[in-house]
Amino acid sequence: MKRVLVIGSGGRCHAIVDALSRSPQVGKIYCAPGNAGIAAQAECVPIKETSVNELVDFARSQAIDLTVVGPEAALAVGVVDAFRAAGMRIFGHTAAATAIESSKEFAKVLMEKYDIPTSGYQSFTDYNQALAYVSARPFPAVLKYDGLAAGKGVVIAADLKEADEALKDMLLDAHFGQGKVVIEDYLEGPEFSFMCFVSGTSVVPMPLSQDHKRAYDGDKGPNTGGMGAYTGLPFITEEDKAFAFENILKKTAAAMVSEGKPLSGVLYGGLMKTRSGIKVIEFNARFGDPETEVVLPLMESDIYEIFAAVAAGESALPTPVWSSENTLGVVLASKGYPGSYEKGAVIEGLENVGCKLYHMGTKADEKGRILTNGGRVMIAVAKAPSLPEALEKANAEVAKIKCDNLFHRSDIGRKAFGARIIDGKALSAQIKEEVRVKVEAAAAKIGRVPCLTVILVGDNPASQSYVKGKIKACEVCGIESRLITKPADISEAELLALIAELNADASVDGILVQLPLPKHIDEDKVIDAIAIEKDVDGFHPLNVAMLNLSRPCILPCTPKGIIRMLESTGVALEGCKAVVVGRSNIVGKPVAKLLLDKNATVTIAHSRTRNLADLTRQADVLVAAVGRIGTITADMVKPGAVVIDVGVNRHPETGKLCGDVDFEGAKAVASAITPVPGGVGPMTIAMLMENTLECFEKRMK
Ligand code: NDP
Repeated sequence: MKRVLVIGSGGRCHAIVDALSRSPQVGKIYCAPGNAGIAAQAECVPIKETSVNELVDFARSQAIDLTVVGPEAALAVGVVDAFRAAGMRIFGHTAAATAIESSKEFAKVLMEKYDIPTSGYQSFTDYNQALAYVSARPFPAVLKYDGLAAGKGVVIAADLKEADEALKDMLLDAHFGQGKVVIEDYLEGPEFSFMCFVSGTSVVPMPLSQDHKRAYDGDKGPNTGGMGAYTGLPFITEEDKAFAFENILKKTAAAMVSEGKPLSGVLYGGLMKTRSGIKVIEFNARFGDPETEVVLPLMESDIYEIFAAVAAGESALPTPVWSSENTLGVVLASKGYPGSYEKGAVIEGLENVGCKLYHMGTKADEKGRILTNGGRVMIAVAKAPSLPEALEKANAEVAKIKCDNLFHRSDIGRKAFGARIIDGKALSAQIKEEVRVKVEAAAAKIGRVPCLTVILVGDNPASQSYVKGKIKACEVCGIESRLITKPADISEAELLALIAELNADASVDGILVQLPLPKHIDEDKVIDAIAIEKDVDGFHPLNVAMLNLSRPCILPCTPKGIIRMLESTGVALEGCKAVVVGRSNIVGKPVAKLLLDKNATVTIAHSRTRNLADLTRQADVLVAAVGRIGTITADMVKPGAVVIDVGVNRHPETGKLCGDVDFEGAKAVASAITPVPGGVGPMTIAMLMENTLECFEKRMK
């Protein structure tokens, strides 16, 4: 039986120890220095991971067959070089090869030399050369002043004109002083981690994973070492993986051999799927943390074999077998992390946890209790046939861990399931129920329910169906409805007279004229004729004026419903970039105004907007109110955006209702999206009910 030493102490090492403990060849595992969790599976020895001589002496004295290095710090101080010099087998790169991680300059130069895709970058001191470079590259471009203005000297130039101005500032005007400008391509897209076992030019891939850097749910809060990770990335295709394997990981391994720094451990590619293909963000020279904790539990073959083959410098590495299930890990961190935090809190309930639990920063006290002893404390890793199930399981297991001083995220991998469908039907049912309760209370007090009068002119089938829906909603809410139908040839004067009559009728609280009206009638005149206190649609010019002044008024139903749907997703509207496509008076413009009132940054687009796609791709919130199928295609949606599709169109071939947005395509990129039908439509009606109640309550005062 083999005797193995693992160097390191965090969750990553715990996962390595755990994988080794499943090997039928491994008898004894030591871990230096290890932690309280690792101690259950290995004998921990109190040697620091960078104490090279002590580690060599220990391995020799214990007749260790194989040593596996976890952290980069140990590699960088030459632990591998020392073990090899002492004639002992070790898995990990030499100090020289670790430059792929420790020197960003080395990595960039290597990628450039061997044509490995990464963000293009170049430094300049000469204005003309800089301008020539930037004009030959795609926009936006990132211009960084590499001098005393550091931190303030970054310009993201959208086009050549902006780039030119910035370059003049930075290099000609002595505005910043003498210096250098670094020009980088602007990269955007989902990031993921691709780890491989590497021995010279022999490269064996591991399953892909994605880390979550931000501290809190919804990717909010400060950056951390990683708050969780999962495997099974739906946004990366087989072709993507094959491309990255051939053109990034294998090419890099070969490049390192050519450079005389062959790799002999794990090569970690921090990659991004951008619109112009997969690019390298960074390389690491070791297992990722927390990626290792979700990747290694999927290995079904003997990990000792591949560690030993790499350590022996073999050129044909064994191909491990991986489970096809999904793993998902949730990190429990000390409250305050990544800032200052306290240590020493007792963690209870660990014995109840039914999934893998890797310790990251823990220690045991003299009574054997487990205490927090670091920023990231432990990671619970669940395995399930699908990602949603893995998340559910991980969250359920984490809930069993009791400790006052720990926090965790509950949305790891959530974005990857595809967009959440914003259920307008359910939300509207809830709102209508609230209206019903209030109507009932008012009826008990006042002795009368609100009354909505709907005028339907002509026999347009769409209008008939909308009116039917509104009357039905009145029934649900306990609101009295009166329907007045008039033939299409009613004169404008007759219609205005009817409205005047209803304005004067004390039993009528709301008047709604279903639009559109026949061509011979001036819609604006009709809307203006409705008494402002009965304007349940919020279309009256005085209501519109009040809206534009941000004064209390009856809000137009569709825009009001859209804001309510956005709020239901939990998206932070304040400070977000919102793009509204369509600038009609009843949808586009009021939506834009309401978003501005929520302190969003709003751009409103229309049929003559140039480069619409460039605009929509920046939008955290995208509202499409155009009335034209295919206006918003999937590539126009920013990954993670919330998409509201207001458009209602009938498909010319299938006859089915559809919106302005390519729903299936956008669903794969967005974080939340409204369906058609069942999205904005039902919400518009629910808002009409609210507005009718509001008009009624005001009149009763
Ligand atoms: P309008 O026709 O009044 O406005 C459409 C807007 O879209 C205009 O601003 C127009 O630009 C813009 N537009 C048209 N084509 C393009 C294009 N190719 N690219 C960019 N912008 C374009 O429509 P409405 O605002 O009344 O309604 C829009 C849609 O929303 C319709 O499908 C309608 O049925 C639906 N709707 C749904 C409601 C619901 O409750 N679900 C309620 C109200 C509307 P320009 O200003 O330059 O002409």
